[in-house]
Amino acid sequence: MGRTLAIVLAVLGLLAVGRFAHANEPEEAGLPPAEIPAAELPESEAPAKDPLPSEVPAKESQKPALAAKEPKPDAPAKELFGAKKLPAAMPSRSIGFYAKGCLAGATALPVDGKTWQVMRLSRNRNWGHPKLIASLERLAEQVPKVAGWPGILVGDLAQPRGGPMLTGHASHQIGLDADIWLTPMPDRTLNPQEREDMAATSVVAADWKDVDPAVWTPQHGAVIKAAAKDPEVERIFVNAAIKKALCREAGSDRGWLHKVRPYWGHYYHFHVRMRCPQDNPDCTGQPPAPEGEGCAPADLAYWFSDAVLRAKPKPAGPPKRAMTLAELPPACRRVLLAP
Ligand SMILES: [Zn+2]
Repeated sequence: MGRTLAIVLAVLGLLAVGRFAHANEPEEAGLPPAEIPAAELPESEAPAKDPLPSEVPAKESQKPALAAKEPKPDAPAKELFGAKKLPAAMPSRSIGFYAKGCLAGATALPVDGKTWQVMRLSRNRNWGHPKLIASLERLAEQVPKVAGWPGILVGDLAQPRGGPMLTGHASHQIGLDADIWLTPMPDRTLNPQEREDMAATSVVAADWKDVDPAVWTPQHGAVIKAAAKDPEVERIFVNAAIKKALCREAGSDRGWLHKVRPYWGHYYHFHVRMRCPQDNPDCTGQPPAPEGEGCAPADLAYWFSDAVLRAKPKPAGPPKRAMTLAELPPACRRVLLAP
């Protein structure tokens, strides 16, 4: 029942918003993505695949466990990483790039905190680098003070060992990305079914040119601002309509605005991206966001152009070849094989 509803909602969402349906995860905001793949609607719930042979306990009669365990370099990395239920028992480190890497020694954001709740528990994507977990806990703690919300609802972080996912995001691979809903946490604990079924609310107007005044409040802006002010947060991705509202409402305290970057989708959640931890040499970061506020009409013009707002969804081409294990940093193989 819940899943059916979610699928129906996902399909409706797709039809309604076309290519805006939370598309390609940001590599670098401000540039048009090469193409908009089939939506990354967080509500889209593809059925989980059967576990990989490596996850099936070996029977006596089977070949030696080692052979079964050895992942093939040309195996789709999303299937290997998507099958892992627990983190790699290794020191914590982010390996590779946000959209091409993995995560060792992940920790979980507890599904319930005083001022946060994790959504879509069935996805098992509440894992991250300890620095991300700490940052989210710091943010959640501030939210009642800065916004008067009881707390935040937290969407996807990363899989237990990071890496590409079977569904959704291109990024979120190294435990430094997190999605936070633009819906206040209710003043009660949601049950697991509600966390699967509850729909997130778009804060953007139907014409995509501004926020929806019936939904958007200054408190939404205050939550995004609090996230951006964390010195370890490097970028935040939001829909251009949200960026426009933040620019308008920021007042004189504007030093954080440059971190908030317009991107496709991101109208019912915002995406927090942390810089690489200093002691993680295998983590490939991005240059810090440019210093300019990005609030001038010219800065946002592209996002409000007909080319973007009236873009027709591209016909579905042949599916893209999945990233293989061999394409990830070599250390990711060890992350996969670790106990
Ligand atoms: Zn995201």
